[in-house]
Amino acid sequence: MTNLRIPGPTPCPDVVLKEMSRQMINHRGPEFAQTLNNVTGGLKKVFQTNNDIITLTSSGTGGLEAAVVNMLSPGDKVLAVSIGNFGDRFGTIARTYGAEVIPLNFEWGKAADPDAVRKALNDNPAVKAVLVTHNETSTGVTNDMEEISKVVREFDKLILVDAVSSMSSIDFPVDKWGCDVVVSGSQKGWMVPPGLAMLSVSAKAWKANAEAKMPRFYFDLAKAKSSLEKGQTPWTPAVSVVFAMEKALQMMLEEGLNNIFTRHIRIADMTRKGIKELGLPLFADEKYASNTVTSVKAPEGLDVKLLTKTMREQHDIVLGGGQMHLAGKIFRIGHLGFVTEDDIKEVLNKLKVVLPQAGFEVKK
Ligand SMILES: *Cc1c(COP(=O)(O)O)cnc(C)c1O
Repeated sequence: MTNLRIPGPTPCPDVVLKEMSRQMINHRGPEFAQTLNNVTGGLKKVFQTNNDIITLTSSGTGGLEAAVVNMLSPGDKVLAVSIGNFGDRFGTIARTYGAEVIPLNFEWGKAADPDAVRKALNDNPAVKAVLVTHNETSTGVTNDMEEISKVVREFDKLILVDAVSSMSSIDFPVDKWGCDVVVSGSQKGWMVPPGLAMLSVSAKAWKANAEAKMPRFYFDLAKAKSSLEKGQTPWTPAVSVVFAMEKALQMMLEEGLNNIFTRHIRIADMTRKGIKELGLPLFADEKYASNTVTSVKAPEGLDVKLLTKTMREQHDIVLGGGQMHLAGKIFRIGHLGFVTEDDIKEVLNKLKVVLPQAGFEVKK
């Protein structure tokens, strides 16, 4: 079997895949209502929230777009905190719909500095919302969400969070940290194929929603909330992916949230340690290195394209490359969702063989 080690889509357990082959049902009938209610209840446990949870048929980006268009009006000032490609994307969505975006960018590979967020909010009192990425998949860095949320709450602003590649894998207690809209996506840490975006929406966010004037139709969260009260979605949902999510949530809750988080910490530690033992430098600031994806800096002489090609063709291991200006400069190893120590051991063992073939002599 392919060892798919990109940070999403991620491998799915057979029992989850089996759910995908079930016969269709009436998405407005009692059976689907039961499934959707189970899914919503399970998601609340994983998000650690009593806020509403809305499940949309879309990839993660649709969830980010929903967060923007449901909370903001054209002309609203937003502070877009970015530490990489996905942070940039969140800001671009807001700009596309007419928000006045104030970028707060940090060097790729580093985490956002909460004090800089405080300063930016002091300097820009009219800011309505702060956009921030919890786990920046393009660089393999996890922001200190607890601290950043604290700062944003000092100013009583809305906080919209991209937790697409962290929620379910890295501890993120939404209510404790007071985050208004938090977005995730089924194909990252959830052991489910692509197709669903899941969002938590706080009471404060619903107040903002009532006044928000950006255009929206398919991603109208108020419509989704009123449908959900009947155990439905406004439009035909990806029924098969919802079945898969119901099963995956059951598995996750059986494993236990804390066990899942510690498994991710353990496997990420092992990955970083193994990479360093090969003599390769980590790209991310190690203090903030992500527990769902490890980014590795390509040393002089290493041909990243040849490395990933050889790993794929000779060993059936699929690694991630670098995005945007990091193409050819880093490679990434995904370790989120349905992942074990053995999956990573195999990657490290085969890297030892392939690195010299791609121009890098492994440390003896
Ligand atoms: C994967 C990802 C997204 C969304 O990507 P889609 O391809 O639309 O699912 C957004 N943010 C982060 C941090 C991601 O890892």
